[in-house]
Amino acid sequence: MTGTDPRGAFLPYGRQAIDEADIAAVVDVLKSDYLTTGPKVAAFEAALAAKLGVRFAVSNSSGTAALHLACLALGLGPGDAAIVPSVTFLATANAVRMVGAEVVFADVDPDNGLMRPEDLDQAFARAAAAGLRVRAVFPVHLAGQCADMAGLSELAQRHDCAVVEDACHAIGAYHACGDGSAAAVGSCRLSDMAVLSFHPVKTVAAGEGGAVTTNDPALARRLERLRSHGMVRDAQEFEIAELAFDQAGNANPWYYEMPQIGWNYRLSDIHAALALSQLDRLDHFVEERRALASRYDDLIGALGDEIQPIRRSRFSMPAWHLYSVLIDFDGTGIERAQVMNRLREQGIGTQVHYIPVHRQPYYARIDPGLVLAGADGYYRRTLSLPLFVGMTQADVKRIVGSLSGMIGRRKARAAS
Ligand SMILES: *Cc1c(COP(=O)(O)O)cnc(C)c1O
Repeated sequence: MTGTDPRGAFLPYGRQAIDEADIAAVVDVLKSDYLTTGPKVAAFEAALAAKLGVRFAVSNSSGTAALHLACLALGLGPGDAAIVPSVTFLATANAVRMVGAEVVFADVDPDNGLMRPEDLDQAFARAAAAGLRVRAVFPVHLAGQCADMAGLSELAQRHDCAVVEDACHAIGAYHACGDGSAAAVGSCRLSDMAVLSFHPVKTVAAGEGGAVTTNDPALARRLERLRSHGMVRDAQEFEIAELAFDQAGNANPWYYEMPQIGWNYRLSDIHAALALSQLDRLDHFVEERRALASRYDDLIGALGDEIQPIRRSRFSMPAWHLYSVLIDFDGTGIERAQVMNRLREQGIGTQVHYIPVHRQPYYARIDPGLVLAGADGYYRRTLSLPLFVGMTQADVKRIVGSLSGMIGRRKARAAS
């Protein structure tokens, strides 16, 4: 079955919006001399940094690579710990494990999945009780609305911890700074680094791609070195003079050094060209997503209590990546799988963001007794409805109509 959309199109929960300018930008790279380590990467990094109002944007091959590099740049390793909210994509926690540090999961607001200062406080207490040395905190701007950065970063500072924002959902959003001002997500006003993803379901697509932003030149230098094998080409940093220099004292033209191990986490120029072209339309993407979310809000607000938009963060001017709702599946007596399957039959794709990461077998084995009621409460009720640039207000109406029909009918039957 292909669904009943009048245009015959399936509505996925998210997808990219590619136009002719994007296609031309990629084709230009294919006809050029550089498919990688060329001018498009530098141009994309400069444009991204300018757009977000941050000193450095270091592009990477994925958001996951960017998270891994952020952990490496902080020097996190065995014997360290980092706090990650349980409601996030796997990669936020996995990056911490990739460098051999321990993950301490924080609970979240059950009504929007965001880590609150009180959740962070409890996570610090749990870490201290377990004798763990927490060195970094990873706030996640879930669905494209921002956590309380002022509250979280003040608490992190008190514990002498770095702050790395997982901003993979939130390019184009602004967060409150606690002094009446707001800052662009990715500007790192209240953090050491912010991590972005350019996976096609995210607001700006590269195919695969990511970036770390920072205002700290030392972190930026480390991120650049680590994403390319740990190689150094700056003569001032060479350690082995007899290999590095000729008799006149000039650096040998072929020479490079590797003071530390690194990875190949570079973004290609093909991907950078697409991301750069897409970045041009960021404001438009964010506006479209806001308009669709606002239509959803109106229609869903008019339904009963059993389905509600997620709670709006007071600390955020959101840039919606996901449109997630909370459905009282327990109260309505209809299973989430049934709702998802029936919507799919009607050409409507949905997804659950996310299974709390502390419940994954790998992490549950590490800390089997951990109970996070907020994360579980959010997970039990959440469902992400289609949201992407290119869908229409009529699509939103049809989606909400399908959903309310299912849940409303079920409720009427239970009551009779
Ligand atoms: C998508 C995502 C990532 C990982 O990004 P990739 O580019 O897919 O590697 C990390 N964290 C969050 C919250 C994400 O949504």
